[in-house]
Formats: sequence, C-alpha cells, structure tokens
Amino acid sequence: MRQAEVVLDWADIRARGERGEGISDDEARAILALSAPEQLEALWATAQAVRHEHKGNFVNTCGISNAKSGRCAEACSFCSQSAHYTTDAPKYQMKDAGTLVAEAKEAWNSGVREFSLVASGRAMTNRKELDIVKEAVATIRAETGMQTCASLGLMSKDGLAELQSAGLQSVHHNLETARSFHANIVQTHSYDDEVDTIKAAKSLGMYTCSGGIFGMGESWEQRVELAMELRELDVDSVPLNFLNPRPGTPLENQHTLTAEDCLKIIALYRLVLPTKDLIVCGGRAINLRERQTEIFRAGANGVMMGNYLTTAGRPADMDLDMLEAEGLVIRPPPHKPHPPSLRPAVRVEGTDSNGVA
Ligand code: SF4
Repeated sequence: MRQAEVVLDWADIRARGERGEGISDDEARAILALSAPEQLEALWATAQAVRHEHKGNFVNTCGISNAKSGRCAEACSFCSQSAHYTTDAPKYQMKDAGTLVAEAKEAWNSGVREFSLVASGRAMTNRKELDIVKEAVATIRAETGMQTCASLGLMSKDGLAELQSAGLQSVHHNLETARSFHANIVQTHSYDDEVDTIKAAKSLGMYTCSGGIFGMGESWEQRVELAMELRELDVDSVPLNFLNPRPGTPLENQHTLTAEDCLKIIALYRLVLPTKDLIVCGGRAINLRERQTEIFRAGANGVMMGNYLTTAGRPADMDLDMLEAEGLVIRPPPHKPHPPSLRPAVRVEGTDSNGVA
C-alpha cells in the first residue's frame, strides 16, 4: 500500500461528511494506511458521526430469495453458481410466483423491509421468467409493506421499465470490484455491461443498489477505486460483501480479510459516500465474527438478514437483538433515491473547508 502523504483532519472530514461531501482519493488512501489504535478510534468516531447525521438511528434490513439458482453460463470467479465450476451450489429453475411471495412474507415477519428476487444468469430475457418476477413483485407490493427489489443480471432499460410498471422499486446489480481488477474476476462480460444496467435503472428514477465483493485479491487502492466509481455513478445503496470462498470456485482458497480490514472498508465507504445507504451483506459472519456489532460504529446503516444466495445466514432474532442492543431501529420503506455524495471541493491553499483563510 502506498504510504499516505496527507494529514487527516478528522474535524474537517466530519464537517464535510455531514454536509454530504465525500473524502478525496488521497484521504481515502491515507485512511487505509491507518493502524494505530488511536487513529482507528478517530476513524470509527468520524464514520459513526457521519452515518448518524444522514441516517439517524435507522437501519435498512434487506432479504433475498435465490429465485433461480445455478447453471449460469457466465464465469465469475467468486460464484458457485457458474456452470464453469464444479460446486455444490443448488441448481433449479425459476421458482413460481406463489413461492416467492411466501418467502417474502416470511422475511417480512422476521423484520426484513426490502426484499430482492435474485436470479442466476447473464440476463433475464426469458418471457415466462420475467412474467413470474412481475407477478411476484406486484403481489409483494400489494400484500406487504416491503420495498421490492430485483437482481436479474444485465438488464435493459425496457426490461426494467416493464418491471417498474409492475411495482418494482429497486434494482440491484453489483459492479463486483474495481474496473482495473474486473477482468481478473469476470471473464464473460465487461465492466461497462455492469455499469450500463445501473445507468438504465437510474434513468428510470429507480432506487439503485450496487457494490462489490472484497477479499478477492484486489489491492487497497482498488477498493478506493471502486468507492470512487460508485460515487460517480451516484448509486443509492452500496452492498458490501466480504468473500466467503466457495469450494470449487477459482477463489476457493482466497482467505485474505481480517475483521479489521472489513471495518476499515466500511468506514472508508461511509466517508466517500456520506449520504448513501451502506448495507453489509454476504460474508458478514465468517469475516467479522464477534465484531459484527461494530459495523454500525464503522458507518454501515444496513444489513442483509436471513440466508444469502448459496450460504446460510444466522437466525433473524440474533440480528434483531444486535440492532436493539446498538439502539437502532428498522427504517420503514419506501426507500427513495438519496442526494448525491459530492466530490470534495477544490480548496485554495491556506484556507479551511469553507474557503476561509
Ligand atoms: S455472479 Fe451471476 S452472472 Fe456471475 S456466474 Fe454467478 S450467477 Fe452467473
């Protein structure tokens, strides 16, 4: 990691973050170089203050259905659902709408307030499958108070508009990693393919959710690069996943993250993206272990609850107890697009962040 050359002014970073202004590339790299306990305390305190300014005591609770699993023609090195690898991931066709609605209602009863239908595959182009998603979305909207979300691979504006007219509010599509590392991880589609799906959702005014997976061999600089890319794209919510290496995938032996790394990544993203939702998703338990409760102090304002796509999560009661112990409450939908997290203003030497000499 390149050594930081900037002095971190925590009061200034906090004041800017509270105004919605994110940190610079140099500040982000300086943060990733921190290791002394007192420096990390300053980082957690600043990230928590910025989170509280924009999110109060509210947290988002997300849940998913793995609506269609396995047999994917794409090759993403972290994913056990790719047909290119021999794994024990379940393989099944699209569930019917009634099953998806029943799963959503069960999640609602366990405290989940945003529910995503996730399907394996490069893109959802099959008319029958799309109609199932539309029917499930419309029923979930009509029969629960949930925010509806879908993660269906690469989607066109027309396809998303059709889902939106059925009641879909959020679109999830991860960039997965930094542009400069993407080809190391995804061999069958491009970074711009990922970006185009997000742009299509944004052009429709939908709440957009896009983030990545950490611990796949990317550098610290590439973690900063992804954060900056997401700020430019102005996504509303950023799911932060920490690799849980799956047997049979090319990354099955990739165990690189410490709990402290995960917390630093969360804090970094809070300070780059002060106004946005940061949701800690896959790999939470295995990477953070007993430090899971610290994710909010590090700046996160959401968690994925229940099971992940191909791995089990912990019981919902444990997460609800964690939120209560931290003095947090579940944010009720709808989740609307957030104001942008701004690039840092250009400063004149010798002036403070308000331009005062
Ligand atoms: S991440 Fe999605 S596109 Fe990539 S292999 Fe897995 S299911 Fe297929």
